[in-house]
Amino acid sequence: MKLTAVHGDAVVVTSRLWQTNAIALRAGGETMLIDSPYFPDELELLPGVLGQAGFEIDALLATHADFDHVLGRLAFPDLSLGVAESTMLRIRAEPGAAQRELRDADAEFYVERFSPLALGQVQSLPVPGKLELGDHELELHPSEGHTGDGMSVFDPASGVLCPGDYLSGVEIPTLSPGGSVDLYRGTLARLAGLVERAEAVVPGHGTPHGRESALRLVDEDLAYLDALERGEQRPQLPEGRDTRRQREIHADNLRATAR
Ligand SMILES: [Zn+2]
Repeated sequence: MKLTAVHGDAVVVTSRLWQTNAIALRAGGETMLIDSPYFPDELELLPGVLGQAGFEIDALLATHADFDHVLGRLAFPDLSLGVAESTMLRIRAEPGAAQRELRDADAEFYVERFSPLALGQVQSLPVPGKLELGDHELELHPSEGHTGDGMSVFDPASGVLCPGDYLSGVEIPTLSPGGSVDLYRGTLARLAGLVERAEAVVPGHGTPHGRESALRLVDEDLAYLDALERGEQRPQLPEGRDTRRQREIHADNLRATAR
């Protein structure tokens, strides 16, 4: 687990699994944690690591309902989890899905976990909408296409944008159940506008970006979606993302768009 300071009053904790990022955003004495690391030891250490850096967490948010983003309560069992309305609907439609996916991942990676995941109190937030954090007003923007649910969190005062599983330098666009190319394109268009106003973009997986590299990712991901829609078996994948794992994701994406 790695702790990195980003622009403004924010730090990113990066998990050893998939470079999954949890972002602590602070404003006016209030701190919010967006998403979560994965491994039990990371979750156990999280409050201490953030506390030492001066970030005492008051509230939890998840960008979408995929299991690797909703584990915050394992580190902060007393806090409720804020999610987009679309994510709340997904959680209600698939009760226990995150718990099952977490158990499967734990089994795959031989991870022992002693406290089971309980999402606890989940709070549904209107998206698009605004959310107060201390003296800042966060913007919540719909972000669908990877899955059928989700939101991006943008703090205009600090310029920090947390898009969830979009604009990653380590992962190509991934169409999971509920996602689609059209929804994904709409989200990238929306994100492009937000990136123009952002100073730092912290994706769900991989290194945070400045504005220029985030805009390059928007272009690369739109080009990838075009190739996917043409049904290309071996499209050129962006630099740094042409790996065996990303080729597997591409094969899954082809199957998902053929349905
Ligand atoms: Zn993810």
